[in-house]
Amino acid sequence: MSLIVQKYGGTSMGSPERIREVARRVERFVKDGHQLVVVVSAMSGETNRLLGLAKELNPEPDPREIDVIASTGEQVSIGLLAIALHRLVLKAKSYTGFQVRILTDDAYSKARILSIDETNIRKDLDEGNVVVVAGFQGIDDKGNITTLGRGGSDTTGVAIAAALTADECQIYTDVDGVYTTDPRLVPDARRLDTITFEEMLELASLGSKVLQIRSVEFAGKYKVKLRVLSSFTDVNSTDMGTLITFEEEEAMEQAIISGIAFNRDEAKITVRGVPDKPGIAYSILGPVADANIDVDMIIQNASLEGLTDFSFTVHRNEFKRAMQVLNDTVKPATGAREVVGDDRIAKVSLVGIGMRTHAGIASRMFGALARENVNIQMISTSEIKTSVVVDEKYMELAVRVLHREFELDKPPVEEKMKP
Ligand code: ADP
Ligand code: ASP
Ligand code: MG
Repeated sequence: MSLIVQKYGGTSMGSPERIREVARRVERFVKDGHQLVVVVSAMSGETNRLLGLAKELNPEPDPREIDVIASTGEQVSIGLLAIALHRLVLKAKSYTGFQVRILTDDAYSKARILSIDETNIRKDLDEGNVVVVAGFQGIDDKGNITTLGRGGSDTTGVAIAAALTADECQIYTDVDGVYTTDPRLVPDARRLDTITFEEMLELASLGSKVLQIRSVEFAGKYKVKLRVLSSFTDVNSTDMGTLITFEEEEAMEQAIISGIAFNRDEAKITVRGVPDKPGIAYSILGPVADANIDVDMIIQNASLEGLTDFSFTVHRNEFKRAMQVLNDTVKPATGAREVVGDDRIAKVSLVGIGMRTHAGIASRMFGALARENVNIQMISTSEIKTSVVVDEKYMELAVRVLHREFELDKPPVEEKMKP
């Protein structure tokens, strides 16, 4: 008997028929003798609908109330799944985050889980229940409802698996695993049987929404066995999806590049003609940080006659606010010539642990993009990733070109030579 945490996303819970299918899959695992905690998302489209309602009434809704509203989608889902399980004559009990006591900090809309009280869950499991828990939501120490950020049910799933030291956390979604890139963009993307934790962390942080980044962080911190699978296969399917591995040797495929992530959520800002002197980066980015705006890529150009240009990217949602801070505060304080911004950019990133040992990946990337006339606006590299910023309209082309250049549709060579 194993203790398994399963998480079902919005599309998997998207209609009464889909919920019935989820219940049937849960039934199969219960009949196989496992204990199950099932974490669910709101039905697909529901969170957007709820957030839309709030915006209709007030373009600047209070963050506390946003979370009160957004968290209700998951509450509907847990009740629906519980009654679908009852219909199959299974014992099942639903819990909101508040009822479990999933304690978070008080950062509305992007709260972090601090602790999970697993007492009630354990008791119910011991009494033979399937425990159904609402994803995406928690409660702060003052009793306010909080939510964990878009895609946050993944994190609820992994955090509960960690708290219960479950044998496995299975993330069921509308694709059958982690692919070399989003299969909706590149139809010949290839499913990976395994991917290392480090690579998954990079892909998630660079925009692959198949797993929320914090769920991967949790899995790493607590060594949760994490798998991504499809809820659209036959309920008796033995397909194993993609396993996130912690040891490089465990990874069966040793490709140099494992995947390509892309992200349209950023915007680029350039402060032109600032005096190149000590403290200039601080005097530009200090006020931005003080306004609670996160900065991603940063580039400072070589100076010309004592003046330099300074570029960086921020989240697109914070673009307007960042421009305002720069124009109102930074420009007069530094004497910068002008501040220009572009929120029609995209970031495309190659990820692979093989980059550590193989030189020339970045130049091959730049060459492939150059042949297609895709202009690179910014570059950033780290040990296992290379990212470029391009005009948003070339994003899809860039992803396809790179997928082809690095032959990600084909299994790595070592794999092909196996009998
Ligand atoms: P859920 O509602 O189940 O949480 P999401 O929509 O959040 O599902 O995540 C699944 C989606 O992630 C897929 O439908 C796919 O379009 C997208 N995706 C992006 N990158 C990848 C990737 N590398 N592998 C698989 N899916 C990916
Ligand atoms: N329902 C939330 C969202 O749409 C959380 C989730 O699905 O993971 O972002
Ligand atoms: Mg998701």
